[in-house]
Amino acid sequence: MSEQDNKAQSEEQARERISDLRKIELSINQWVESLLTGDRLSLAKGITLLESTRIEDHEKSTLLLNALLPHTGKSWRIGITGVPGVGKSTLIEQLGLNFIQNGHKVAVLAIDPSSRLSAGSILGDKTRMNELAVNDSAFIRPSPASDSLGGVARMTRESMMLCEAAGYDIIIVETVGVGQSETEVHDMVDTFLLLMLAGAGDELQGIKRGIMEMADVIAVTKADTENLQRAQQARTSISSAIHLFAGNEEQWVVPVITCSTVNEDGINELLHKVESHRIHIESAGFKTERRKKQNLFWFKKSLEEQIIHDILNKEDLINEIEQQKIAILQNKISPFTAANELVKRIKIKYFN
Ligand code: GDP
Repeated sequence: MSEQDNKAQSEEQARERISDLRKIELSINQWVESLLTGDRLSLAKGITLLESTRIEDHEKSTLLLNALLPHTGKSWRIGITGVPGVGKSTLIEQLGLNFIQNGHKVAVLAIDPSSRLSAGSILGDKTRMNELAVNDSAFIRPSPASDSLGGVARMTRESMMLCEAAGYDIIIVETVGVGQSETEVHDMVDTFLLLMLAGAGDELQGIKRGIMEMADVIAVTKADTENLQRAQQARTSISSAIHLFAGNEEQWVVPVITCSTVNEDGINELLHKVESHRIHIESAGFKTERRKKQNLFWFKKSLEEQIIHDILNKEDLINEIEQQKIAILQNKISPFTAANELVKRIKIKYFN
C-alpha cells in the first residue's frame, strides 16, 4: 500500500471513530435526559453499565457519570450494618416506607462481601422487603458480583450518584458485619446505623472490630417478647461501653436505643435519632466536611488500586512474582526481602 493510501485509510478510521463517539454521545444525552426525569429503566440500565467489565462500556459509563455529576450529591446517605439475621431487611422496609410516607424517594443499595464467593448470597435475597420492592417511590438494587470488595464499593458509590440524579433523596446502603465492608460503607455515607443483637456476643464483637466507634446511631434489635429484657440490658452495657471511647470531632453523642419491627416499639424513636443526626451534621457543616474527606479518601484509594493493578499485571512482573513465590515457599528468601527486591526492580524499570 502506498503512503498516500495509508494516510487515506487512517483518516477514514479517524472519521469513523469520531462518528462512533458522536453516536455514543447522542445516546448518552438521551439516556441522561430520561434518567433525570426519574425513569427507573434508564436508572437500572445505567447501574448495569457501571457494573459491566467490558472496556467499551467503561467509556460510556464515564460519559454518563460525567454528564450526571452536576445532579448528584443532594441526598441523605444512610448506611446500615449488622450481622446476618439482626433484622436489617425488615427494618429497612419499615424505615423506607416511613420515609416515603413523608414524601421522600428511597433507594436501597447493598454491599455484600460474600459476592465473590457465593454470588451475593448473604444480602442477595431481597424478597423480604416485599412492600418496598413494589413501591413506586423505592428502588432496590442488590449487590453486584465482583472480583474484589474494592470493585463493589466503587460500583455502589457510583450507583448512589445515579440514584441521586434520578431524584432519590434518601439512599440506604446496606451491608453485613463482615470484615472490610462495614468500613467501606461508613466511608461513603452521612449517617451510619449499627444494628446489634442482644446476647449474641455482638456487643463484644462490636467493640473488638471498632465498628461501634464508627456508628452514629446504635439500635439493639428484636426487643420484644422473651428477648425484651436482654435487649434492654444490652442497651445499658453498650451505652456504658461507648462512653469509654474518645469523643468524636463532630461532638455528636451516639444514641443507643432498642427497637422491634414486630410490635414497632422504638421505631419512631429510631427514626427520630437518625433524623437528629442528619440535622446535627447538616447544621454544623459536618456533612460537607465528611463528604470532602470521603471524596479524597476514595480518590487516594482508587489511585493506589489502579497503580498497583496496572504494575502488578505487567507480564514480566507476573513471572518474577511467581518465581519469588516459589523461592519463598522453598525458604530460599524471606517474604520481606523478596518484596524489597521486586520493588527495587520495579523502580529501576518503570520509574527511572
Ligand atoms: P437481616 O439478615 O439482617 O436482613 O435480617 P432480616 O430482616 O431478614 O430478619 C431475620 C429474621 O428476624 C426474620 O425472620 C425476621 O422476621 C426476624 N425479625 C426481624 N426483626 C425482628 C424483630 O424486631 N423481632 C423479632 N422477634 N424478629 C424479627
